[in-house]
Amino acid sequence: MLRTIKSIKNSCFVIFFLTFLLFNFKTANGETIYNGTLIDAHSQVGILISNEEVSKEINNNDVYLTLLSMRGKHENATKRYKSIQKQTQGKVRYLISTKLKGFARKNKDANEAIRGIKELKRQAVNSKINYVGFGEIIVQHAPHDHEKLKYAGINLDLKSYRIKKAIDIVFKDDVPVILHVELNDYEEDSKKILDQLVEIGNEHPNKIFLLMHMAQIEFKEAKFILKNTKNVHFITSHSDPYRAKNEKRKRLGKAQTGWITLFNKKDNLKNKWKTLMNENPHRFVFAIDNVFDHHWKKNYKQRVYFWRKALASLNENTASLIACGNANAYFKLKIQCK
Ligand SMILES: [Zn+2]
Repeated sequence: MLRTIKSIKNSCFVIFFLTFLLFNFKTANGETIYNGTLIDAHSQVGILISNEEVSKEINNNDVYLTLLSMRGKHENATKRYKSIQKQTQGKVRYLISTKLKGFARKNKDANEAIRGIKELKRQAVNSKINYVGFGEIIVQHAPHDHEKLKYAGINLDLKSYRIKKAIDIVFKDDVPVILHVELNDYEEDSKKILDQLVEIGNEHPNKIFLLMHMAQIEFKEAKFILKNTKNVHFITSHSDPYRAKNEKRKRLGKAQTGWITLFNKKDNLKNKWKTLMNENPHRFVFAIDNVFDHHWKKNYKQRVYFWRKALASLNENTASLIACGNANAYFKLKIQCK
């Protein structure tokens, strides 16, 4: 009896040991990772996380530069940015927020919201912050109903008064116009928004337009934008496997449900997107867009890893442009992409 137990114990150990070897073999040799410079072209810091905590996360990750905009109280925006910049020794650059004075709240006065953007710009200039642009302009945003955000939603378009006013402010600085549209969550308006994007892109051929979160776009709609514009590009935020899994759990009508994923079940880029990126290397810009505390603290590393793996599957030149080169050119960052 004792011998049997002993031999079971031994075989358990052998199985455990073999599994251990196999697992490590796989992680050591199985995946190719892109090791070039990464710029996160849009992330956000709000009231749920402190300057110290954000700085720690930024310092612990291998994203070379993060373009950062502030949420919460507008009075503190530049002060917070400066503190984070100091604590990360320059690993962040400033995007002036467009949404702090109720811009995305439909019942808030549009003129007051617009004045708020100008005020934040003044604040940045007075604080001698060399800002590189403006944060996303919320055009459409599904309602939210959970503990981190209570929000009634908004559904505007590119001809709406406050959107045109905000775009004008960004135009004056000749920096990219970052637009947050939700083509899935507002499916009924997607044709209208797509046509307006083509129109505004062609009307302003020297300006750059960037669509946050892939605009929740369908593949054929993405092809339509690439074909009909030269200067409307995609920001890859919230299109990774983590986001897709997270959204599935949350399909309770309490937040956006329309995020798309560019990845397949094995957490690799889908072939059709890979081809589209390789064919249009200048049209995609990498961003993580951390918003809430858990984005920074829990899944940041993993999402960066998903993308480093994805970038490794692209042509070398495409990967380098999406990871760094495009943001570097569009935001005039003057860094060296390695
Ligand atoms: Zn957004």
